[in-house]
Amino acid sequence: MHGHDDPAPYDLLVVGSANADLVVGVERRPGPGETVLGSDLAVHPGGKGANQAVAAARLGARTALLARVGDDAHGLLLRASQQQAGVDTGGVLVGGAPTGVALITVDPSGDNSIVVSPGANARLTPQDVRAAAPLFASARVVSVQLEIPLDTVAETARALAPGARLVLNPSPPAPLPAEVLTACDPLVVNEHEARALLGDGADGTPEDRARALVALGPHSVVITLGAEGALVLDTRTDGGPVRVPSPRVAAVDTTGAGDAFTAALAWRLGLGEDLARAAAFAVRVGAAAVTREGAQASFPTAEEVAAL
Ligand code: ADP
Repeated sequence: MHGHDDPAPYDLLVVGSANADLVVGVERRPGPGETVLGSDLAVHPGGKGANQAVAAARLGARTALLARVGDDAHGLLLRASQQQAGVDTGGVLVGGAPTGVALITVDPSGDNSIVVSPGANARLTPQDVRAAAPLFASARVVSVQLEIPLDTVAETARALAPGARLVLNPSPPAPLPAEVLTACDPLVVNEHEARALLGDGADGTPEDRARALVALGPHSVVITLGAEGALVLDTRTDGGPVRVPSPRVAAVDTTGAGDAFTAALAWRLGLGEDLARAAAFAVRVGAAAVTREGAQASFPTAEEVAAL
């Protein structure tokens, strides 16, 4: 069915970051000039782009990742985790800077302190996007986040094939040019990101925030609401905002839940589902992801989602 001349060999192209998460447990954080001893180092593949690509591929989506890593051991780790999940890594570029890292200390109460060094992620350029034209030509949906330069995000919006849709999770939140906002279909935000984008206009209910967000230009908006699930608003349907409840689960670790949700949503939209239906699947994927520790390690297969 998907031969050489299939115009869409990828269900999903993710354009985004790839980081090594370096995690050390500490009794307490060091003050200025101080040294503390911590636990053994744990190294996990992460970054929002890499997480989304793994989440989609594990569900069964034909997925490609456009990203940049360093010519180093962390870059190899990231490539291996993508390949293990079944992601096409032909678009994972190498060099220019060390692989991005997140230096994470975790204290006994579970609170994280994080320093991010973007490294190679900051060197993923608009030219890299233009050079990846064959990937764009064959992707129904392109998903992007903000852990790469904003110029590169804007070029991604321009590079979409006719009829392809852009899914943007603006994380970490930053002001977005109109050209990017109007390309989003949908803009996917959690409550924190919604408030950051709306600033003074963030009052009221999540429904109010969804209406205020579509007024900024996106064709559609999804607000994730943690254990409450999500809220969708599509400007092309007559109805207003629609709540999509999440299954109740025993949450163990919410790391990566938003990435799993967004990847699942983007994949199902590409299969032709409407926004509410795609979100109803995505909340199940997000809920499954919070029942296990870690980010990529917690992402479910389609069978695990069905069993939830
Ligand atoms: P983020 O991880 O970006 O902060 P959310 O906390 O809104 O985003 O979570 C994203 C999705 O993950 C939710 O829409 C939901 O499907 C799922 N999720 C998160 N926390 C829980 C929870 N405690 N119980 C069930 N599902 C959850």
